[in-house]
Amino acid sequence: MKKLLSILKRIDNKGYKAYKSIQGHYEHENYDLDIDYVQGDPFATPSKLRITIPKRKRYVYPEWLETTSRKIATEDAFGRIIGEAVTNEASFIKGSGKSGLILFDRPGQEILERSAVQITTQSIVICISVGLPANGRKINGKEAEKLFSQALPSIIRNSVYTLKDEAINQAIKLADQQDAVRQQMKENNWVAFLANGSILPRESGISNRPLKKAVPFQSPAENQVEIEIPHTDEPIKGMAVEKGISLIVGGGYHGKSTLLQAIERGVYSHVAGDGREFVLTDRNAVKIRAEDGRKVSGVNISPFINNLPHEQETTFFSTENASGSTSQAANVMEALEAGASTLLIDEDTSATNFMIRDHRMQLLVHQNKEPITPFIDKITQLRDELGVSTILVMGGSGDYFATADTVIRMENYIPANVTIDAKAIMQQYPLERETSLEGTFGKVRNRYFQQSSLQTNKGKRVKVQAKGRTHILMGKTDISFTDTEQLVDASQTRMIAEMIQHLDRKQGMNDIALCTLLDQIEERMDKQGLGSITAFPNQHPGDLARPRRFEIAAVLNRMRTAIIKQR
Ligand code: ADP
Ligand code: MG
Repeated sequence: MKKLLSILKRIDNKGYKAYKSIQGHYEHENYDLDIDYVQGDPFATPSKLRITIPKRKRYVYPEWLETTSRKIATEDAFGRIIGEAVTNEASFIKGSGKSGLILFDRPGQEILERSAVQITTQSIVICISVGLPANGRKINGKEAEKLFSQALPSIIRNSVYTLKDEAINQAIKLADQQDAVRQQMKENNWVAFLANGSILPRESGISNRPLKKAVPFQSPAENQVEIEIPHTDEPIKGMAVEKGISLIVGGGYHGKSTLLQAIERGVYSHVAGDGREFVLTDRNAVKIRAEDGRKVSGVNISPFINNLPHEQETTFFSTENASGSTSQAANVMEALEAGASTLLIDEDTSATNFMIRDHRMQLLVHQNKEPITPFIDKITQLRDELGVSTILVMGGSGDYFATADTVIRMENYIPANVTIDAKAIMQQYPLERETSLEGTFGKVRNRYFQQSSLQTNKGKRVKVQAKGRTHILMGKTDISFTDTEQLVDASQTRMIAEMIQHLDRKQGMNDIALCTLLDQIEERMDKQGLGSITAFPNQHPGDLARPRRFEIAAVLNRMRTAIIKQR
């Protein structure tokens, strides 16, 4: 550190570029500091640091890293307290531009695999960005000295050195318990589990925190199961949603969408205190919705859509501007292509003509003039031929009673199992509508992307940057995926941008099946970590989180410059 402080004295008041000379490795009494990247001016992207805390300073118990979930939970626990310490370290460092800014990728309600904190039995590595202080465009060495000798040490002291072993033990116990529930779900063919007492609603449309004074979740007796979990003698009780077709009905404002949203988010684990710690869903469950205006490239939507006006091809369907129903059909087919095993659908965000067509409409608009085979006529084939389950919120049409294995009615936020009543109603009032159930579901086709088109625009390699959670800028082209609801954290979006930018595409003009590409990416993340797919492998950027393959696919599928080959 003496070395760093003496350089800072020497370059004080010089042009900002002189900061480049502090790049390098330094030793502080409590940690090692690597200044990996120095920003070019006070307004540029902040400089990137790594802080390494050796084992002898902060012991890491091997059992914290025993399973993947435990390791992620341990890193998450450190990430949370570091994030808090960074936020509390009120910026007393002054200057122009981003002077004194300290950034750390703080986790949200989900527990995700991240790159900001990397723990092994040997050390804890933390990635932080800082704005190196300046007066105008001149180096402010005094403020920089405060940054390195006061602010950073205090952040580390108030986080890594204060976090109790017991707090980490709690986090890994929760991870073990969540794993145990997921294991039971697999063994029993459940696609979702919601523990009694869970808090499903969120504080507001823009906050992911639990709503205070919410009605706790309570399973209907018919669906209730008990699961033994580790670290406690009390088994956990709650509702199991079985594979197959589950319908959620109920009056408006009685909590249907809230229930489905909790299930959507259950593909991720949540932190203690969130209320959804034991709301867990098949990790391959994908939310399907209408998304008019999206681009669609070479998707076989013919299971749902045929005979479009002007004989537009639907086995290899492309459009720059999909309609509600064609976008929803494409979303289903793409999810299946990427390997979805459960589909989650809410009437609120669906195209009505994609979901249902009733008897009277069938009489007025003849089958051969209606391009759409509604989802209701495909839902059973999905289950029986492809083994794909559906959880569907539908308060507006009883036609789905005919297809459902289970019907759950939400009333004042409490679910009841009304399957028998729904079936009785079907007996009394049989479907008038014609069902077109002949034939098979149809083909889920693998699509082949021209590899180089995923990284280039008209043959030129371009810069790829995440812009918040729902946009990636590729050169000047915007890739927008605002309706990809299970992409939950901007750090996941940054990870996808890094993938687009830094994955090797030596194959150039060769084609690659989307599935193969997704498999390759996942294998790389599994074996080499998130940090391996970046410009500075395993150093920076330290603000990445792991996305699922479905969300990676969602971005690639919405890339307007990607070229897909017809085979
Ligand atoms: P629906 O889809 O049935 O019309 P929503 O799920 O949108 O209803 O819920 C309506 C409102 O009720 C929302 O503001 C939601 O936050 C709130 N809400 C949902 N579940 C609960 C609950 N368990 N306790 C308290 N409020 C809830
Ligand atoms: Mg709703």
